[in-house]
Amino acid sequence: MAYQAEYIWIDGTEPTPLLRSKTKILADDVTTPPIWGFDGSSTNQAPGDKSDCALHPVFTCPDPIRGGKNILVLCEVMLAQTGAPHPTNTRAACADAAKKFAPDEMIFGIEQEYTMLRPDGSPLGFPTNGFPAPQGPYYCGVGAGRVVGRDIIEEHTQACLDAGLLIEGTNAEVMPGQWEFQIGAADALTVSDHLTVARWLLHRIAEDYDVVISLAAKPQKGDWNGAGAHTNFSTKAMRNDTDMKAITAACEAIGKKVMLHVENYGHDIQSRLTGHHETAPWNKFSYGVSNRGASIRIPWTVEKTGRGYAEDRRPNANMDPYVVTRLLVETVCGG
Ligand code: ADP
Ligand code: MN
Ligand code: MN
Ligand code: MN
Repeated sequence: MAYQAEYIWIDGTEPTPLLRSKTKILADDVTTPPIWGFDGSSTNQAPGDKSDCALHPVFTCPDPIRGGKNILVLCEVMLAQTGAPHPTNTRAACADAAKKFAPDEMIFGIEQEYTMLRPDGSPLGFPTNGFPAPQGPYYCGVGAGRVVGRDIIEEHTQACLDAGLLIEGTNAEVMPGQWEFQIGAADALTVSDHLTVARWLLHRIAEDYDVVISLAAKPQKGDWNGAGAHTNFSTKAMRNDTDMKAITAACEAIGKKVMLHVENYGHDIQSRLTGHHETAPWNKFSYGVSNRGASIRIPWTVEKTGRGYAEDRRPNANMDPYVVTRLLVETVCGG
């Protein structure tokens, strides 16, 4: 029987791209989803008179929503004329960097935070007029009045598992309506592909609840935590050496390129990295053991054994994983 392939790609919306998708029916005997195309003039990716963009499948997994033989197909966007990567395609450069530094065997685990909003833009869990009680009981909370939207988390987690994505866990966050899931640990391309499909599944599932998933860095001004995407990383040397040297060297290398990283860690990062709410100021680099007020945190278990990984706490929830992992690969392995 014919089946459905949901082609997913990243568009050209500024300052933060959106995910798009459309469905292609594949004949029963088709085992490899073919190259396809779309109207780039409707996604801020092409002018109207040269509107065709190409979709090149790069990662395929079972479609946990439709089930059966149906699949999800993550694509890179290419220029229709030349077949070269489209300017909005950040995956191609990530693939190049990952290939160049493959011997370092760098892997990543990404903690994706996000905020659930009502269609009017107010956070789920906030009274329609005013504010809920201050932050405190919500992080990893249980019970009505402390936690909202759990149905969505449960459905999303199972969907990620059914799709074969490397989801590692979930937790309710510090601000009401805010949640987190983690993806990893895997190489730059794998973690980014899995995160992109996991984001798509989250938007898609929340759609059925009429809930908007926001990746905004600071969805609620004031004394409320922002939403980040802490990016944990390690090279083979960081995992294997036992003298902390590789981990310290990685932090020092990143400290030499502070602005390059911060400027590419997601829109509106200054609003989130204020030095408050478990962040370091965006323009002041620091690293330290167990320090959630540092730019990079080294877990205490890592200091104890002298090896393991480090956590770059700066990337925003709305970061591009292909850009963030590429920069970390280039800076840590090439610096
Ligand atoms: P936090 O205490 O910061 O909330 P989490 O439990 O949410 O930590 O996330 C920890 C992350 O660290 C996971 O995504 C996991 O994949 C990642 N991680 C663990 N070990 C490594 C490693 N050796 N290299 C890279 N990432 C790692
Ligand atoms: Mn976490
Ligand atoms: Mn978190
Ligand atoms: Mn973290």
